[in-house]
Amino acid sequence: MSEHVKRMINRRHILKLYSGFLLALDWVFPPKCIGCGIEKEHFCKTCLEKINYINKDVCQFCGSPIRFGTTCNECLREKPHYDQLRSVSTYTPPISNAIRLLKYQRDITLGLILSQLMADKVVEMKWKVDMVLAVPMSPKHFQERGYNQAAVLAYPISLLLDLDFESGAIIKKRETKTQVGLSAKERKLNVENVFFADSNIVSGKNVLVVDDVSTTGATINACSYALRQAGAAQIYAITLGKAAFSSSPLELQS
Ligand SMILES: [Zn+2]
Ligand SMILES: [Zn+2]
Repeated sequence: MSEHVKRMINRRHILKLYSGFLLALDWVFPPKCIGCGIEKEHFCKTCLEKINYINKDVCQFCGSPIRFGTTCNECLREKPHYDQLRSVSTYTPPISNAIRLLKYQRDITLGLILSQLMADKVVEMKWKVDMVLAVPMSPKHFQERGYNQAAVLAYPISLLLDLDFESGAIIKKRETKTQVGLSAKERKLNVENVFFADSNIVSGKNVLVVDDVSTTGATINACSYALRQAGAAQIYAITLGKAAFSSSPLELQS
């Protein structure tokens, strides 16, 4: 049996175990729908139907909704370092609630449900991906929160798509201040050269970068720059939510 087949069987096995474990947790701690609060479900059917999916008329690069043409003004001005970035939904309820929960509570079951929406989008885009990566946090931030919400989405995406999750492929070299309240230019400068990608892992590979939310896409672009430097081939990125950019203080970062 080849190494690849062995790994594939192993991933399916992990996915089964992972789902089974989470279902068992639900039995002990009955969940509530993050949209409407109905009991026994994390995300009920009615609330799933309320998701404001971003499906058509988007910029070919950054995935922002546009009224006409194929490329938004920002990407016309400066092409991003990634090949394509897409988001499942606008940053509006119920997805904005779900992202808030992921950020402040370690709801891994919710991560699994949400990652299914993201994996579906990746399949729909027909991206040929070799490995899944998560936008990293700085070691200090990670220590404070205890988990990386991007990885809570990225890991089950890798299981669902039968791909390797490479948690150490990108690292964040230093702490940055929050992107909240910064202008688009300040956001870009804030995350410039803060990421490092390991060429031993990503060189010549098509990668999928996962994050919970993007606004101007500055963070994903900075990760993509590091990945390009490390020789990554195609760079695709997916976020669950896409927030409309505003420099006014929101609770968003990205
Ligand atoms: Zn609901
Ligand atoms: Zn664009």
